[in-house]
Amino acid sequence: MEDLIERAARDLVNSRYAIALTGAGMSTESGIPDFRGPSGVWTKDPDAEKRAYQTYHTFLANPKDYWEERLSGPSLLGDLEAIKPNPGHYALAELENEGIVKTVITQNVDNLHQRAGTKNVLDYHGNAFKLRCAQCNARFDSKEYELPKLREEGELPPLCRKCGGILKADIVHFREPIPSDVAQQSLEEAWKCDLMLICGTSAVVYPFAELPRLARQRKVEKESRTEAGLYAVGESPAVTIIELNAEPTPLTEDGISDYLIQGKTGQMLPKMVEALKGIRR
Ligand SMILES: [Zn+2]
Repeated sequence: MEDLIERAARDLVNSRYAIALTGAGMSTESGIPDFRGPSGVWTKDPDAEKRAYQTYHTFLANPKDYWEERLSGPSLLGDLEAIKPNPGHYALAELENEGIVKTVITQNVDNLHQRAGTKNVLDYHGNAFKLRCAQCNARFDSKEYELPKLREEGELPPLCRKCGGILKADIVHFREPIPSDVAQQSLEEAWKCDLMLICGTSAVVYPFAELPRLARQRKVEKESRTEAGLYAVGESPAVTIIELNAEPTPLTEDGISDYLIQGKTGQMLPKMVEALKGIRR
């Protein structure tokens, strides 16, 4: 295990453009339940999952009803503001600060990467603290809109201050397409990177799952010496994909990742940062 952490630290130091993909496993150590694990939100309440499949349809059919529903019940994720980033989040922020990790693409909506100090975050499935315009994709801090007050005054749904379009929660609901700007930027990052760190996600939910698979397909031309002493052009993978997960995943089994560092991200990432600093010193 220590060898693999050392190897990852070396790969990071040698990388030109590293990015990180993160998922629910990253935040469980902060006390946020995942969705499909043994004590996941959907596992414990399958009816809530069925209802969640209707949410986006409700928004499209009747945005006012959608907002009434959202403002009448408790949040599925509990009180996110009281939850704190864990050492894994801080370690990724440090890797950005060191100039190594250029972008974090996260499936989490909890805003913990931003709170730990990471600046360049793509919220692939949206951000629980933001609202998004269904028409122009502009995001707003939800605190800018006094939603309970709008509800009292019969002014729902909230409207975009840029274009007047209808606002929804920034969170991407079931059956809702990934916002086009984030989807496009994420593809570009996956296409550009030469190192991908996958933290706390089995990457089985599409289209997020395409990102490591797309990166894996990329090849670079490589010169190699043949028996005759000549150089021939061959192809080799353009990306090193390192997985940090509690258990092997389809990425491990399908050979998408180069190697798996098995454990908790909150423990492994800080160790990796420490090893990296040792190499750079
Ligand atoms: Zn707008």
